[in-house]
Amino acid sequence: MNIERIIQEVYQKIKGVDNKGKIATYIPELSKADPNKFGVHISTISQMNFGVGNYKDKFSIQSMAKVLSLSLAYRILGDKLWERVGVEPSGTAFNSLVQLEADKGIPRNPFLNAGAIVISDILLTHLENPKNDFLDFVQSLSYNSGISYSNRIAQSEKKVGYRNVALCNFIKSFDRIENEPTDVLDFYYDLCSLEMNCKELSELFLFLANNGNEIHSNKSILSESQSKRINALMQTCGFYDESGEFTFKVGLPGKSGVGGGIIAIHPDKYAIAVWSPKLNKKGNSYRGMKFLEEFTTRSELSIF
Ligand code: GLN
Repeated sequence: MNIERIIQEVYQKIKGVDNKGKIATYIPELSKADPNKFGVHISTISQMNFGVGNYKDKFSIQSMAKVLSLSLAYRILGDKLWERVGVEPSGTAFNSLVQLEADKGIPRNPFLNAGAIVISDILLTHLENPKNDFLDFVQSLSYNSGISYSNRIAQSEKKVGYRNVALCNFIKSFDRIENEPTDVLDFYYDLCSLEMNCKELSELFLFLANNGNEIHSNKSILSESQSKRINALMQTCGFYDESGEFTFKVGLPGKSGVGGGIIAIHPDKYAIAVWSPKLNKKGNSYRGMKFLEEFTTRSELSIF
């Protein structure tokens, strides 16, 4: 099978069909993205790398960073982590407040904003220099020390982050946030502001296709079991209330971000990143979902 050819053909097909949806505008700086951008990059365990379209353009990875912060927190705390955050799909939007009251400040899963805010709190408690240490962790997974935060995006989100302020304060009211909410949120906005291109993303996330080991050095980032569990969470919770749909159509663990990126993992085989800024109603990249559905259907490279 020629994966490069399938990617080329599916890319051309999806590019030609339509480009529905809307760019995220609730974070003012995100609204400046070019809606026509469309990039794809795959990195395989057998060290094949291939990209098409705008795969070298950097964009805001937003919620995809939640997988990286979760990985670092899991590495530090081990299974004690699950005392602070659940592992159930929520069936609600990424920024929903509704379940927190019933769940007494324990977010359903780490990919909801509420869950990622708790993970940020944990990292703030355990890291000496949270912002630098987290970036070091991300860079250690990558070949590119040029990866960095965007202060412009972080500040833009901070100015309008009323829902995240509400979430963080609400969790704090249950005594389930240890640090000052403003510090937790500043760190959370920094994480979400990381900028990468599709190539960097697929290379970086390859450790989750490789049993938790960084691909070149074979350094263990997570144990095999931990890596399996992060993939399980991406499978069940990576697309908020569209996680079932993504599993049904694409059949891979994955994670989206409101910047229009999606990362998907095939354990033992590959990581693939897609970017197209226009989002569907559930906040996931419209063309990104379409591309991955067609790609895994034609290549038969999904886990089901
Ligand atoms: N930083 C964004 C927010 O908190 C992340 C949301 C996302 O990518 N789904 O709203």
